[in-house]
Amino acid sequence: MTSFLYRCTTCGKAYQRDEVRYLCPACAKDYRPGIPLLGVLSVEFDYVAIQRRFRKQSPDWSLFSAVEPEHYPPYPVGNTPFFPVAALGQAFGFENVWLKNDGLNPSASLKDRASFLVVAEANRLKERSIVTASTGNAASALAAVCAAAGRQAVIFVPESAPKAKLVQMVLYGARVIPVRGTYDDAFRLSLEYTARKGGLNRNTAYHPLTIEGKKTVGLEIYQQNGFRVPDAILVPVGDGVIISGVYKAFYDLKAAGLIARLPRLVCVQAGRSTAIHHYIRTGKYQNALRPATIADSISVSIPSNAHMARRAVLDSRGFSITVSDKEILRGQRTLAEKTGVFAEPAAAAPVAALRKLQGAGLLDCKEQIVLLITGHGLKDVDAAMSSIRIPAAKAATPCKAP
Ligand SMILES: *Cc1c(COP(=O)(O)O)cnc(C)c1O
Ligand SMILES: [Zn+2]
Repeated sequence: MTSFLYRCTTCGKAYQRDEVRYLCPACAKDYRPGIPLLGVLSVEFDYVAIQRRFRKQSPDWSLFSAVEPEHYPPYPVGNTPFFPVAALGQAFGFENVWLKNDGLNPSASLKDRASFLVVAEANRLKERSIVTASTGNAASALAAVCAAAGRQAVIFVPESAPKAKLVQMVLYGARVIPVRGTYDDAFRLSLEYTARKGGLNRNTAYHPLTIEGKKTVGLEIYQQNGFRVPDAILVPVGDGVIISGVYKAFYDLKAAGLIARLPRLVCVQAGRSTAIHHYIRTGKYQNALRPATIADSISVSIPSNAHMARRAVLDSRGFSITVSDKEILRGQRTLAEKTGVFAEPAAAAPVAALRKLQGAGLLDCKEQIVLLITGHGLKDVDAAMSSIRIPAAKAATPCKAP
């Protein structure tokens, strides 16, 4: 680890590590439920120290970590496969397409990375319980990491979450509170819960280390790509924390003098959950009205990290695109058929986006393009069932001898 400060992404004020826990106290005064978070904190390392100590020959990634490795829970996350998918790329007219398959994390989504780091922080602070609101995956991940770390997860989740995700949380031993309402309702309830009962709140972006945890996927892409920066990374976006984490990875690498440019970040949202998309396109923020998409993991009315996500896309010279549920399901099938990777609907959104970008002139066909696959398809079998047909059974009569 190297020393770090927290810097407010709204007002720029700096705080010592244990001076604050969640949002910038000055800016949080203006926050009320119903709008994106204000005063989200970003970790600012001693980049000169990193530059001096980091060696590509034997990379010490803990230099980029905001929690000391001695506090890490015994639950290995990340190190997921990164590999070229020529057939998928060719299907859409692109020559150099790669997958980062983060559905292969232990609880089957990228959320393991954020939960891992927040639980490490809970270990450091000796907080016994960790509380979160979730559309599903953040909670399954938190429940799993807490199980491994011997801590109590408390979870607020919409009752409509896919069954496999609910099964995961309960099986891992979390205290699950299904909410008859939306993810945004669950978010508000979980904040009220920690304000009243204590524990560490893991809500995405609200706890700054969720962004740092998700950052590790970007650091891995850089290393697995031979310490080179891809041209573009397509990221499915709900609350806007994954895309901010990917941005932060390359921001840190650049600040430490390891790279010269950022990859262009492409925000992919579902056609009926487009708050960040519109914010990027127009510069005006508006909640998404009644988000409704088969991609439950990116179904968000009030994205908590809208401001940082927009900045990540603009600073990286990226752009934003939306895909319909029909396009997502078609992308899910093409991905499976061309690569053998089964992604949940949200995680298939980048595939749908790539198909839509064919011939649009926004990505060059020779560029290195990375699709971030954020969650496993077995998390939501019902969604995939809506686009396939399982053949009817045949009677098990013995074959007749010729
Ligand atoms: C959470 C999640 C996303 C979106 O991440 P945000 O940080 O909310 O933008 C995308 N895909 C999957 C599978 C997820 O679980
Ligand atoms: Zn502030």
